Amino acid sequence: MVCETTTDGVSVAPARLRAAVRAIVERGGSNERESTLVAGQLVEANLTGHDSHGVGMVPRYVEALAEGGLRVNQQLSVVTDAGALLMLDGNAGYGQVMAFDAMRLGIERAAEHGVAVVGLANSHHIGRIGHWAEQCVAEGLVSIHFANVIARPVVAPFGGRDARFVTNPFCVGIPMPDGEPILLDFATSRIAMGKVRVAFNKGEQVKPDTLLDAHGEPTGDPGALFADPGGAILPFGEHKGYGMAVVCEILGGALAGGRTLHDRPTHRSIINNMLTFIVDPGRLGTAERLAREAMAFAEWVRASPPMAGVDRVRLAGEPEREWRAARAEAIPIDATTWRQIVAAAERLGLPAAQLESIAAPRPLA
Ligand code: NAD
Repeated sequence: MVCETTTDGVSVAPARLRAAVRAIVERGGSNERESTLVAGQLVEANLTGHDSHGVGMVPRYVEALAEGGLRVNQQLSVVTDAGALLMLDGNAGYGQVMAFDAMRLGIERAAEHGVAVVGLANSHHIGRIGHWAEQCVAEGLVSIHFANVIARPVVAPFGGRDARFVTNPFCVGIPMPDGEPILLDFATSRIAMGKVRVAFNKGEQVKPDTLLDAHGEPTGDPGALFADPGGAILPFGEHKGYGMAVVCEILGGALAGGRTLHDRPTHRSIINNMLTFIVDPGRLGTAERLAREAMAFAEWVRASPPMAGVDRVRLAGEPEREWRAARAEAIPIDATTWRQIVAAAERLGLPAAQLESIAAPRPLA
């Protein structure tokens, strides 16, 4: 099912890629814990096939550092602490630290109360949301995440011609007794913005029903999103996906203690707000039922005869596990993205030769 399309670029072993990103983030002033968490989550995104949220984000983070929209070595501030209810502020710190610590606190509260509602406001980019569901699932907990994004609008409302919000992700993690969780994790736009960037960097077109140009007309050219004035991505699922995007904006933004998008920020930082519900099925008394029924349902659904061109029916979370297996030894990075990463390192005073000796990139076959 998974297949690589990049042919021009480099291939880097996951451990070396982690070390290279750690070195760049450290040069940006981060302490060891922060650079390890940032590198770990970005490389995990590549490992799960989501290059859009992987190491290709590093150049944007470096720009945000320079502009002051991303602040190093921040800690969560507790805004409200009411037992199962926690409202936290990420102080524009690295999302990889803020979301990790927010989930850690939420998991502790769910252990105590059976449930936790965690608002995380004003964090810098928290990357692949599935990573945070995996943190909860690893403790046997169900989690539901609504997030919004405060950055330049790139998604049009259903029926609209221009961009009014961002790619507002939604995610649910459900632990399964076979250890392979259901992990639903997607942007509410037809494709994630990072996937537009990846297509742009690779010089590829996207499907024609995905984007609008600056005049609100359909286009397959990812460059439309990088032009000035820019175009827009359409929401997924027509009015239904658009409705989910609105719910993510208002719950993930405002109910979580952050804000919604109602202007056009000019800086390059990406602020995420996220509302997370964490539930302990054991405390609800339904853990055994959940395990039995979810497995029976999964088996039933997977038994559906596949359509032409499909090898088998999958459940959410399976493609990411397949990517993880396919990329365990080497992660491909397209040439443009690699050049941008090297330039970002140099901007922070880490010479290209030093970065390349850490990463040991090999040309893609
Ligand atoms: P996507 O379109 O690849 O969809 C991924 C989801 O669909 C996963 O749950 C996957 O398991 C499931 N899936 C894929 N193929 C399947 C199949 N054949 N059968 C069953 N399920 C299948 O994801 P996306 O919309 O491109 O989002 C990519 C990533 O971007 C996500 O991890 C998301 O959290 C992240 N994101 C983050 C932000 C942010 O601001 N931090 C914003 C948008 C997106």
